[in-house]
Amino acid sequence: MPSRAEYEVIVVGVGPGGSAAAAACAQAGIGPVLLLDRAAFPRYKPCGSAVSNKALEELARVGAGKTIEAVGQPLDNARITSPDGITLTLPGRRGFVVNRSPLDQLLVDAASAAGVEFVDGARVKALVRDGDGRVSHPVQHLRPLRGSPRRARGR
Ligand SMILES: Cc1cc2nc3c(=O)[nH]c(=O)nc-3n(C[C@H](O)[C@H](O)[C@H](O)COP(=O)(O)OP(=O)(O)OC[C@H]3O[C@@H](n4cnc5c(N)ncnc54)[C@H](O)[C@@H]3O)c2cc1C
Repeated sequence: MPSRAEYEVIVVGVGPGGSAAAAACAQAGIGPVLLLDRAAFPRYKPCGSAVSNKALEELARVGAGKTIEAVGQPLDNARITSPDGITLTLPGRRGFVVNRSPLDQLLVDAASAAGVEFVDGARVKALVRDGDGRVSHPVQHLRPLRGSPRRARGR
């Protein structure tokens, strides 16, 4: 359950994009920031778990780079084979392999360390814009299974 009724920023979706965006806002002094996901964390997400150099660069900007390097397996080259057998080899360090659940948790931790409030098990059902341009989220809480949907407002 969100602790406030109003936030400067509400980010819906705790994939790498959402967590990094929420952390970047908080680190830039924009807040309070609320980060929501409908899933209960840690959640399973199908993924090949490869974090490219470019992705690592972006995630390092919010303070998660060193941790990803510490828990990941280095990916020293990559080979892509098409269904008709054409193979492309990409030599050199391509990034890291990190299982998706721990990766998502690392990024939530980076956002939380920056002061972001994280709420899981919270499905956003709709976005409603009011007269002064603010967006309200009626939030359907999946956990705990009690109470009526809560609304949180963000600019
Ligand atoms: C099989 C597979 C393998 C892949 N392998 C790789 C790989 O090896 N390397 C790579 O870089 N990329 C890979 N990808 C792509 C990668 O998974 C996506 O690019 C990445 O997850 C997108 O991140 P995101 O932050 O945009 O959102 P997502 O990671 O998609 O997260 C979105 C989140 O929003 C939440 N959500 C959605 N609707 C609501 C709602 N109404 N209310 C609250 N929460 C909501 C969801 O629960 C989810 O947690 C793979 C994708 C697939 C399908």
